Amino acid sequence: MSDTDSDTHDPAALRTPIVAVLGHVDHGKTSLLDKIRGSAVIEGEAGAITQHIGATAVPLEVVSSIAGELVDPDDFDLPGLLFIDTPGHHSFTTLRSRGGALADIAILVVDVNDGFQPQTLEALDILKRSQTPFIVAANKIDTVPGWNVHEDAPITQTYESQSDRTRQRLDESLYTIIGNLSDQDFSADLYWRVQNFQRNVGVVPVSALTGEGVPDLLAVMMGLSQRYMKEEMEIDVAGPGVGTVLEVKEEKGFGTTIDTVLYDGTIRSDDTIVVGGLNDPIVTEVRALLQPRPLAEIRTESRFDNVEEVGAAAGIKVAAPDLEDAMAGAPVRVVRDRPLEDVIAEVESELADIAVDTEEEGVVVKADTLGSLEAMADALGEAEIPIVRAEVGDVAPRDISVASTADDAKQRAVLGFSVDVLADAKRRAEIDDVKLFTDDVIYQLVEGYTEHVEEIERAQQDTILDNITRPSRFRVLEDHVFRQNDPAVVGVEIYSGTLQNNSFVAKWEDNEPTRVGQVKGIQEQGEDVDEARAGERVSVAIDGPTIGRQVKEGDLLWTEVPEKHAKILEQELASEIPADELEALNMYLEKHRKRDPFWGK
Ligand code: GDP
Repeated sequence: MSDTDSDTHDPAALRTPIVAVLGHVDHGKTSLLDKIRGSAVIEGEAGAITQHIGATAVPLEVVSSIAGELVDPDDFDLPGLLFIDTPGHHSFTTLRSRGGALADIAILVVDVNDGFQPQTLEALDILKRSQTPFIVAANKIDTVPGWNVHEDAPITQTYESQSDRTRQRLDESLYTIIGNLSDQDFSADLYWRVQNFQRNVGVVPVSALTGEGVPDLLAVMMGLSQRYMKEEMEIDVAGPGVGTVLEVKEEKGFGTTIDTVLYDGTIRSDDTIVVGGLNDPIVTEVRALLQPRPLAEIRTESRFDNVEEVGAAAGIKVAAPDLEDAMAGAPVRVVRDRPLEDVIAEVESELADIAVDTEEEGVVVKADTLGSLEAMADALGEAEIPIVRAEVGDVAPRDISVASTADDAKQRAVLGFSVDVLADAKRRAEIDDVKLFTDDVIYQLVEGYTEHVEEIERAQQDTILDNITRPSRFRVLEDHVFRQNDPAVVGVEIYSGTLQNNSFVAKWEDNEPTRVGQVKGIQEQGEDVDEARAGERVSVAIDGPTIGRQVKEGDLLWTEVPEKHAKILEQELASEIPADELEALNMYLEKHRKRDPFWGK
């Protein structure tokens, strides 16, 4: 590690577990991280907590001084906890390591008042899929009515000193959360009742505002890591570094840099590294390793300290040439004393693991990082939406061209997750009639697209319905013959279905349908109308028959539905037409099928 925090670097070669914080927006992720960092600054010796690039290291001594008697440093040999500074699913999915999540352990924050929300479920889904152990921080306990604050106290202590009524209210919220977890197939309980944290999820009541329960949270994290993750934390400290790109950033004086979380080995300022790039792996020489300069020392121009070497786990900014095409979420590997080809092959195979399966036809997907691209692909896969092209980067004109070649209108779409749409791409999309969807929340993006698809399908069905003859069954009323023929004008009552103007009219005689004429006008109370619905009585002009001969008073007549139309109605539109119309259709089909069982099939 850098010389400033070499004291936190344990020679026992156990690295710091990496901790990520997830949860629904506004449930208190940022506040909780701030609280932990704040407490660490107050409790620890000056400089004991180290600000990394994109992460904060809280060493064991500081954890133990915050947690008080809950953590005896002698029980632990892991060096502390490294918290990723950017909370949320996005950084979690971005930060991946060989085949899994980079974070070793996660805190899922749930607001006790608000309970489970869409992003809570999304986070659970991500945790489940990546098999990341986690604990639930049931946050904002200080907002329970009647709450009596005990700043920074362990939960049992503050819990005991609440009134019965307040305790009861908190318990209710906590049990709701435990119930919600169980609905998602996680067996959970209040953390002090959990025996085996591998099987059960511990729920820790906390307040990010007052610090209550934060000692417990840290103690549980530390205990869980020590107990179940020690083996995974054993690393070759001196070995070549392995990490993941958190962010690709322009930095004044350094050009393009990569903020990297190192999870294995060391990286040195004279190393050659291989980084996953948009096209091929990038091979480059490290020019500088940069760590944030402690606030008190910002006297010089640079916000960064140059360091010679950093060991896992750590967040570090790497400055090197040719990093423009580096991708967030891509692997970074130090070459050192190994054949370059081997390292390139390792990076390539890691990238291939993340690659998204595409199909011949589908939508175009863009995302800002490899991890989020993968998460998008998973979500689309679940919604059975095929992908034709999936790439990291902003939406460019090229993407529009690909989308515009789709035959299916539904697939003329580009879905962008956490990316910008370049101005000329926007213009192209309008010209080429390609629909653009962008969002920073995956499920909203998928939902937006699904709604669009449903709209197209509805419109398509409407067009079909407009061009299809609809069934109806109606009777010629007694004493309502207004004209005998040319055309015959009679009063009718529609029994079921929709009688449309211009449709042909048939009558069933001896099991055979006979066309008797064509509707040439419908009047309802003296007004011309295009159609008449079930239950209505209207007068119709029918060109063809003479009343008293082909058609008699009291006759039951049908709209003559062409066989092809009957088939489409039955097979594709049955759910789109009114129930009475479906009834008319079924009766009509039944009559035909008595004569010919395969009619309309
Ligand atoms: P995030 O979106 O999950 O990062 O949520 P924030 O940390 O930004 O918190 C959202 C709001 O909830 C802010 O106004 C916080 O001050 C407030 N908040 C967070 N934690 C607590 C808590 O424990 N108690 C109370 N009363 N308010 C909290």
